[in-house]
Amino acid sequence: MTAQIIDGRKIAARLCEDVAAELGAAVVDGVPVGLATVLVGGDPAARAYLRRLDRTAAALGVFRRSVTLPGSAPVADVVAAVRELNRDPAVSGILVLRPLPPGIDEAAVFAALDPCKDVEAVHPENAGLLALGTPRYIPSTAAAVFHVLDSWLDETGQERAGFYHRARIVVVGRSNNVGKPAVSLAFAKQAAITSVDEWASVGNQLGAYTRRADVLIVAAGVPQLIRAEHVRAGAVVIDVGINLVEHPGERTPRIVGDVALDEVTGRARAVTPVPGGVGPVTDIWLVRNTVLAARNAAVAPGGDRRAS
Ligand code: NAD
Repeated sequence: MTAQIIDGRKIAARLCEDVAAELGAAVVDGVPVGLATVLVGGDPAARAYLRRLDRTAAALGVFRRSVTLPGSAPVADVVAAVRELNRDPAVSGILVLRPLPPGIDEAAVFAALDPCKDVEAVHPENAGLLALGTPRYIPSTAAAVFHVLDSWLDETGQERAGFYHRARIVVVGRSNNVGKPAVSLAFAKQAAITSVDEWASVGNQLGAYTRRADVLIVAAGVPQLIRAEHVRAGAVVIDVGINLVEHPGERTPRIVGDVALDEVTGRARAVTPVPGGVGPVTDIWLVRNTVLAARNAAVAPGGDRRAS
């Protein structure tokens, strides 16, 4: 079996058309759409993500505000920056880039966000709504995972609900950022779900779990963690990992996923590549949430629209 390589860029391009239309409608209605980012320190992966977001926002004509603070900034300064963005009427969505430097209380920063502008659903209110199955905003990476899966099902003529009801989904990685939101979305699909983290690997049990998966979602941040031996024949593998790996003789690091693509294509039915899989869809989804947030800000408190 040679796996189909799922083209995330093509899926992102289609989503981009929809988001451009939503943006156009917001402009016509006089609803300001703006995305602000807060970067603390200089984490290379966060900076690479920021550059991608700048390009996406520029291509779509979305207003951007970019706040950068030194890695030594005290948490009070980060909270003050977030509160200032909460008050800016030109900003409808705020993204705090992760990882924050060690010593910054992430929970204090997230709690300072205006929940209406919290487009990654990290404020406790939004994280709670997501866990309850009634999200205000669906965090972009987990949303992208299921948008890619849904698109692949549609393209291959498989009925979504029937597929998910029969599917065993295994999620590797359990972060608040990716793994847990992906599990919440898998609950909403009424699939059978298993969630594992690094302790499965420490106990040498990772393969015992992952080989059960009809759909294997991998978000561990470990290059080439998933090899052929971890994959059930005919599974669909969604690689979320983005890892910068140095190669001898090369000036810039290469971007690789968590899945050994060359090996896994010999066993899986379909697999997302890195780069060019989940990542491009994630970026567009964040803009989509920013438009939704602008619409939410334009209606009376409590009357906001929910994600779909
Ligand atoms: P994280 O470090 O916060 O969490 C990693 C999770 O994986 C933890 O639950 C950890 O226990 C688990 N894990 C680590 N090593 C493991 C192992 N050997 N076996 C099993 N589980 C293991 O990372 P994160 O923020 O969740 O991001 C995960 C990956 O996804 C990173 O590579 C990140 O760059 C990438 N990412 C991609 C996108 C995208 O748009 N594609 C967006 C966000 C994050």
